[in-house]
Amino acid sequence: MSNKSTEKILFITAPVNALVEGLYQENTSIEELLNRGNFGLGTFDDLDGEMIINDGQAYQLKSDGKAYKVNPKQKTPYACVTQFEPYSFEYLYSSIELSELYAFLDRTLPSKNMVYALKIEGAFAHVRTRSVPKQDSYKPLVEVARNQPEFSFQDIEGSLIGFWTPEFLDKITVPGYHLHFLTGDQGSGGHLLECVTKEIKISIQHVSRIELALPITLDYLTTNLNRDISSDLNEAESLKK
Ligand SMILES: [Zn+2]
Repeated sequence: MSNKSTEKILFITAPVNALVEGLYQENTSIEELLNRGNFGLGTFDDLDGEMIINDGQAYQLKSDGKAYKVNPKQKTPYACVTQFEPYSFEYLYSSIELSELYAFLDRTLPSKNMVYALKIEGAFAHVRTRSVPKQDSYKPLVEVARNQPEFSFQDIEGSLIGFWTPEFLDKITVPGYHLHFLTGDQGSGGHLLECVTKEIKISIQHVSRIELALPITLDYLTTNLNRDISSDLNEAESLKK
């Protein structure tokens, strides 16, 4: 473990408000993303499903409910990655709902002014996810999110991967807890909506620095990004705080 010598950075490919305004092509390659970290989440160009990166492998959780291994040439308008070397671990051998899991994390994370990478793996009694369907227009994210396929898993093993990000970063990245789910057989998953745990291990790492890329695309350069997007983002991401 070399995390003492290497400061961990959260790399964000574009401010999330650009995604909320419907900029679904910002063209950061998965290859570049994986050079910046082995762990993270996001989406793909044209909003073609949910992204999850675990142990340096990126998966595309498409709206058919299946997980596909990602080609390094594929591109993303929005993703967050870090180099994950967790140093703090918690074990829960009880059945709790997502709101209780968040309450447990609230008590466990030392400060809410820091970013944390979180991996929650093990057995779940129930998991409910969604995956956004591919778009061919600039429909705002909040409208897309109203028509998204949802998936239910019972008695399933898998990993939740994502971040806690402070509220004050809510134009840069999705605030609060943001987790994506990948089944243990790496065949399915999505953006987490609900879950009930059975036996889980929680791995935690804080991230003390953020690097934000500003895309050089015509859309990005010419879109007004000053609208207050918080209610759109809350609805689109089904945020719980
Ligand atoms: Zn998500």
